[in-house]
Amino acid sequence: MKTIGLLGGMSWESTIPYYRILNETVKERLGGLHSARLLLYSVDFAEIEALQATGRWDESARILGDAAAALEQAGAELLVICTNTMHKVAPEIQARISIPLLHIADATADALLEAGISVTALLGTRYTMTQDFYRARLEARGLRVLTPEGEDLDTVHRIIYEELCLGVVSPDSRRAYQAVIGRLQDRGAQAVILGCTEIGLLIHQEDVPLPVFDTTELHARKAALTALGE
Ligand code: GLU
Repeated sequence: MKTIGLLGGMSWESTIPYYRILNETVKERLGGLHSARLLLYSVDFAEIEALQATGRWDESARILGDAAAALEQAGAELLVICTNTMHKVAPEIQARISIPLLHIADATADALLEAGISVTALLGTRYTMTQDFYRARLEARGLRVLTPEGEDLDTVHRIIYEELCLGVVSPDSRRAYQAVIGRLQDRGAQAVILGCTEIGLLIHQEDVPLPVFDTTELHARKAALTALGE
């Protein structure tokens, strides 16, 4: 089993499920007392968020690149960035290391295509929903990607930073997300990507009629299977 390097803390609320899913997957595959071999470098998210909000992506790339290099130095054989948004600087991080980076959008696209989905809704931070680093990667795989518009886009983004990243899970926000997903379904979405690693804390399969693709679940599972050579 390979040692997985996790770049976490963005936010720590979503790093916890990564740890659980990695271990559950290894246990499911190897049985008994087996658990995932991993290293975690957890950053101070306040610093990263401030850089996002002011568009200083090069500085965040430097911080995360340093962290990734430290993980490799410590023995990580595979890198997992536990956030969709910070994949914006995935190329810069990859350039700092010689171990492979398992891209979250690739794990997600694989699952959608396997399920026969061609038109999908994408929920995430404003950066993930509107910028090319993420949706273009899905589109390159042949998927059509629908994102919320206007106020809906603001609502989805705001709830992530003001609530979910602080561990606040509110029924009102769940209803707001359900309404947004309903409007995306009306526009033709056949599935919804929870394209922010905290959304799975709020929305579960039973909350919405569309098939849910939770990037945390898909990414962590793929990482565990890759570490096991599957
Ligand atoms: N964890 C979130 C994501 O998957 C948002 C926090 C961040 O900006 O990294 O995009």
